[in-house]
Amino acid sequence: MDRKFRRAAVLGGGIGGLTAAAGLVRAGWDVAVFERAPAIPTRGTALGMWPAAMRALATVGAEPAVRAGGTAMSTAATLRPDGSVIAAVQRPISMNLIARPALLGILHGLLPPGTVAFGVDGAAQDLGGFDVVVGADGINSAVRTWLLGHGYDARETGKVVWRGTLEAGQFPASETWGPGRLLGITPREAGKTNWYACADLGVEASRAALSLDRAGQAALLHASFAGWHEDAGRVLAAGEADFLFHQLSVVPALPTFIGSRTALIGDAAHAMEPNLGRGACEAILDGATLAALLGPADSPASVAAALRRYDSARRRPSQRIVRGSALVARIAMASSGLRPRDAALSLAARLAR
Ligand SMILES: Cc1cc2nc3c(=O)[nH]c(=O)nc-3n(C[C@H](O)[C@H](O)[C@H](O)COP(=O)(O)OP(=O)(O)OC[C@H]3O[C@@H](n4cnc5c(N)ncnc54)[C@H](O)[C@@H]3O)c2cc1C
Repeated sequence: MDRKFRRAAVLGGGIGGLTAAAGLVRAGWDVAVFERAPAIPTRGTALGMWPAAMRALATVGAEPAVRAGGTAMSTAATLRPDGSVIAAVQRPISMNLIARPALLGILHGLLPPGTVAFGVDGAAQDLGGFDVVVGADGINSAVRTWLLGHGYDARETGKVVWRGTLEAGQFPASETWGPGRLLGITPREAGKTNWYACADLGVEASRAALSLDRAGQAALLHASFAGWHEDAGRVLAAGEADFLFHQLSVVPALPTFIGSRTALIGDAAHAMEPNLGRGACEAILDGATLAALLGPADSPASVAAALRRYDSARRRPSQRIVRGSALVARIAMASSGLRPRDAALSLAARLAR
């Protein structure tokens, strides 16, 4: 290589891509991020950052701002649809909730001006001059298709999700588990409330739901959670006015996250069900680990060897989280075996005190 400093192309300026870019910029790399969206989004709900993700954010210089801009979660309860408590955690939970746009803004602020080219399809760029190409292009990743073909395309779960933020009115943090239904309520900065609701409709009905207009999606939300406890009714009545709505899909277990000069990170590598609240955390861990393993831009170490270390450091652990999320989804939205489930969860919460 004649050039002294290495160059990285990052396809996708989401949470994983911007984390990788921030780590590589810190290590002296010349980084170009291609992001299809025209700008950082202004709307988005809160994401829970677990301790490992906060430690990874520290390695790229983002942790203090994320801690300052987020909200610590103090207590949380798992409820039945009638509001009765299955289990409650009464001590501070080591999770920091931050709004997705705020997190993206913090990461973007760590990059030199012009690093991110917004409104650009990275898959249409000439990537020949880069030492490394990072596929951070989300669940329908073009980079994953380049590496592995269409056999590993994302698969529909048959579930749909509504998500939103209430600007006023605080509610205790809870997750309510009903047969084929789930509703989460978490705190957000400045006294706001974050909510998410999930319904397992089956693949055909979830596709049909996507083509409903806003009023139809709001009516489906209402019908899916009718008769649930008082807080659920109040949150959803207010939330019907403004929500994000989408289908849930997952990426099957990939045999590798890398090519000879390409690495997949985040949802491109392992999009999962959201029930452990870990998708963004794992994207952050991927991005920070990849940057650390690629090392300083002027290092003579082999890029291919660093990518192999990245694959062994991140593939199995992140795929374990994917399996764990699927298991929790099945347990949380189960239709049978509820008594033993609730007894086991209640016991686990009491033992954790
Ligand atoms: C209901 C729900 C709740 C969740 N809660 C949590 C939580 O509490 N904690 C948590 O850790 N995670 C949570 N997640 C998961 C989390 O949102 C995702 O895992 C995370 O956003 C993935 O980040 P990413 O950077 O890999 O992908 P994305 O955030 O999807 O970013 C990919 C980016 O690539 C861009 N892109 C795509 N194709 C191209 C292209 N060809 N060229 C250029 N740009 C392109 C897209 O525009 C996008 O900006 C939740 C998910 C859901 C559905």
